[in-house]
Formats: sequence, C-alpha cells, structure tokens
Amino acid sequence: MKIKNKLRLGLGTLFFLILALGLIAAKHVYILKEDTENILADNYKTLDYAQRMLLAVDEINTNSKAWEIFGQNLAKQKNNVTEVGEAEATQKVQDHFELLKAAPRNSTLPGLIRKDLSELAQINMRAIQKKSDIAVGSVRSAMVGIVLTATLSILIALTLLINLPSNIGNPIRELTESIREIAAKNYSQRLHFSGKDEFGQLASSFNSMAEKLEEYDSSNLSQILMEKKRTEALINNMHEPVIGLDENKNILFANNEAVKITGMSLGDMLGKSAVDLAVQNDLIRVLIQEKQGHHNGINSNSATPSLKIYADNKESYFEKEVVDITIIPTGERLKKFIGQVILLKNITPFKELDFAKTNFIATVSHELKTPISSIKMSLQLLESQQTGALNEEQKQLMESIKEDSNRLLKITGELLNMSQVETGNIQLNIQQSSPYAIMQYALDAVKLPMEQKEIELVVETDENLLDVKADMEKTAWVLINFLTNAIRYSQQEGRLVIELRDDDKAVKFSVRDEGKGIDSRYRNKIFDRYFQVPGSSKTGTGLGLAISKEFIEAQGGAIGVTSEIGMGSTFYFELAKA
Ligand code: ADP
Repeated sequence: MKIKNKLRLGLGTLFFLILALGLIAAKHVYILKEDTENILADNYKTLDYAQRMLLAVDEINTNSKAWEIFGQNLAKQKNNVTEVGEAEATQKVQDHFELLKAAPRNSTLPGLIRKDLSELAQINMRAIQKKSDIAVGSVRSAMVGIVLTATLSILIALTLLINLPSNIGNPIRELTESIREIAAKNYSQRLHFSGKDEFGQLASSFNSMAEKLEEYDSSNLSQILMEKKRTEALINNMHEPVIGLDENKNILFANNEAVKITGMSLGDMLGKSAVDLAVQNDLIRVLIQEKQGHHNGINSNSATPSLKIYADNKESYFEKEVVDITIIPTGERLKKFIGQVILLKNITPFKELDFAKTNFIATVSHELKTPISSIKMSLQLLESQQTGALNEEQKQLMESIKEDSNRLLKITGELLNMSQVETGNIQLNIQQSSPYAIMQYALDAVKLPMEQKEIELVVETDENLLDVKADMEKTAWVLINFLTNAIRYSQQEGRLVIELRDDDKAVKFSVRDEGKGIDSRYRNKIFDRYFQVPGSSKTGTGLGLAISKEFIEAQGGAIGVTSEIGMGSTFYFELAKA
C-alpha cells in the first residue's frame, strides 16, 4: 500500500473512531436525559399531585379552597396516567372524592382517599425505581460501548504511533546511507525495499541508477586499463629506450630497451627516485642531467652531444631528448608540469656511416694531396722558364691551373683537417706564441688576394701584448680563414680591420669587414659543418668556420661572431695568455 494511502487509512480510522466515540457518548447521554425527563414528567408530577391532594384532604373541613385544589390536582392527575394500574388507582381516588363531596361529614372517606393516594404514589415510586434501574443499565452499556471504542482507538493510535514513524523514517535513513555510499564510489550499494509503495518505487529507481553508475564505472576502468596496457605495449615495443619521470623525478615507467641499457631490473627502477639511482648508475646520472638553459625555454641549436652506451653487444651511440610533459588540469587555466619523458634515439647506424664517410674523405684527400702537390711543382717548373718561354695565352692558362690547384689544395687540406677533427685526432702543438707573429703570418698568407681586391687593411693592436698559449700553425690557419672569408665577402676596394686586444686573461683576435653581414637566423649555424648561408658564394666547402671552432676550442679558447645584415661582420676568437 502507498505511504499516502497508509497515512490516509491510519488517520482516517482514528478520525472515525473519535467520531464514533463522540456519537456513542452523545447517544447515551441523550437516552439518560430522556429517561430522567420521563421520570420527571410521568412520575414526579403524579407524586406532586398526590401530595397536594393529600394536603387538601387534610384541610377539607377547615379550608374552603381545599375542595377546589383537590379537584384541580385530580384533573391534572387524570391527564398524567402513565403506568400500569395508575388509571384504576386514579379512578378509585375520584370515586371516593365524589362520595366525599356527597357526604362531607363522612369520616371514613378521607381515610380511604388517603389510602388511594398512597397506592397511587406507590405505583409511581415503583415506576421511578424501575426507570432508574433501566437508566443504570443504559449507563452501563454506554460505558461498555465507550470503553470498547476508546480501547480500539487507543490500540490503533498506538499501532500508528509505533509503526508510522519507523515506516517512513527507516527507508529515508537507509536511502540517506545508500546515497552516501554512492557518493563514496561504492556503486554496488542497493536498496531492498519490497512493496509497491513510494519507497518501493524510489528503491527501484535508485537501484537502476546505482547499476548504471557501476556499469559506467567498470566500463571506464576497463577502458582505462585497456588503454594503459596498449600504451605500455607500445612503449615496450619501441626499439629506442624510453623512461618516464614524474614531477619529482621518480621513475614512472621504463621500457625493455631502457631497462637493458641501464643494466638494472625494472623492479629496481619503478617508483624509485632517479636522483637516488643516479648515485650508483652512471647512465641514469647522464640521462637526468639537465641541459643548460633547458628550463628557461632556450632552445639552443647546438647539436646535443651523443651518448656512448654499450648496447646490442657493441658500443652504441644515442641522442638524448627530454620532453617536458605539461597538462591543464580540469577546471583550471594554468599549465601544470607533471613530469618528463626521456627518449634515447639510437644513432649508431648514422655514426657508423659518419665514420665511414670521414675515413673515406681522409683517405681520398690524403691521396689527392700528392698529385696536387706534383701539379704545383710542375707549374713552378713551367714558371721558371727553364722549360721554355710561355706565350701570353699559355701564361693565362697556367695562372688558372695554379688557382684551381691552390683551391684544390685548400679544399683537400680542409677535408683532411675536418677528418682529423671528426676522428678526434687533432694534434696540437701548443707553445708560447706571440699574437703579433700569428697575425703577421696570417696577413702574409692573404696578401695576394687582398691586393687583387684592393682591400684597405687597418691593423689596430694593443701594445706589449703577452704571448698566448697556442698552436701557432692552427691558430694562424683560423685567422687566415677569417681573413679570406672577410676578403671574399667584402666589396672591391673594401675596408678590413684586424685587431689584437688585451682582454683580461686572454688576447682577443678579431677581423671586421664591411661586407653584406650575416642574417641573425644563420648566425648560430655558420659554425656547423658543411653549412653555407643560402645564396652565398658556392666556391667554399662550408667547413672553414667549423674547423676554426674545433681548433680554437681544442686550445681552450672561445670563438664567435657579431654581425648585422648590411653592416658587415666581426669574427673573433680569444686565447688564454701564456
Ligand atoms: P666557406 O668555405 O663556405 O666560406 P665557412 O665555414 O668559412 O665556409 O663559412 C660558412 C658560411 O658563413 C659561408 O658560406 C658564408 O655564407 C658565411 N660567412 C663566413 N664569413 C663571412 C663574412 N665575413 N661575411 C659574410 N658571410 C660570411
């Protein structure tokens, strides 16, 4: 039954019981009133008339009005005959009163009248007694009726009092607890209200809601687990080592390759702090080493040095890439750093190819050097005129062969130097060298091309410069490279400034030209191997500045450029004083 109907029934029953109680009580009170009124009307009045007639009989000889009073009361009594035998008794009183009226001196008749009146009173007294008994009886039955109805009402009220609050309160409490459980993600919670009342309907709606939530939750979970497995499988199947760190540098995951190269077990890595592991594991230390400027967002173009790691049963080369992982948490606007992924790119095949290329270049350039040198020697012989005079045309041809063989020699020299640099075989002969001597050596070497282009040379040097710690030949080579570039990129009759400056603990060599300058986009790249600014002269190899950098850095110096497009360039290097 529905709660609404239960309440209606309970309260309705109570209402009807109270109504019944009231009606029963009212009915019995009414009956009692009727009884009392009957006694008063039927019997009390007769007694009153009889009393008055008795008094009138006593005064019959002394009071002249007594006859009249008697007659009046007798008449009234005749109209108030209500009991069995009362009519006969009243008739007797009347008969004797008639006789007394005819013989007023008769002394026995008053006595007879008194007796008659007494009999009349007796009849009515008995009637009063009987009616009183009846009234007592109806009071009793009224009492029984009222007590019964009251007991029934009390019983029903008690039942309602005990059952109704728990009938309504218990399901509400259970519902509250279940909602709390659902809020705590216990989606297996169910309500077990039987019946078809409102709570039954509520329970079935609640249960279907919980079931759907449970289904959604478990499907979501299994989906997430599936995705997790898929991602793990993907990472594990990658041929390159991958390690994931959280924001506190604790290791979240590492794929098989990563486990292999670190030489640790996965169990020893997962959940551990990479900083702690770095203490005992060199590779992890290198992996978590931050690149300078990494967190300032500076993305330097300089190539990341490759890592040499023993993997795949041989020395392998890897390039490290650290990717910062950031997310925007739900409901927030700011990005949050949640960790890093360290990727190692296996560049061993490229390295092997690179070695092969370097060896090849070294061999070829070495092999080319001898024939080129003999070409140059033959040219010198031709020039010395011992072999006969040359006509103008032959001289021009010889000049161009000389130029080409010089260029060839320069290129083979650069390639040889480069292969030395790449194989790490730079042979340095560091001595105390005079900066002035280095400068003079370089200037002598570029004298001819400078004259050819009618370049104005300005030399600005600080006086009494101390010697520098340098490989004289290689440093001069760098300066010559700066000067030939400056001449090449200067206008005809341009101006070139060479400076030697005292720079605290070092001496700064610089070459300034007024040529076309270098676009800022390429300024970092010109020191890379084989790089040439797009659109520049194609005669070079793009190796000069790369070799210069290697030479200077191998001597512990620093190299750089400042340039403004259209305003010329200044190339410089610094070497420590001896
Ligand atoms: P290359 O043999 O091609 O000159 P370098 O390594 O010496 O190779 O120079 C690399 C590039 O730098 C050149 O291609 C050129 O575009 C640029 N460069 C070098 N020096 C200058 C300069 N003084 N003015 C303008 N550009 C220059």
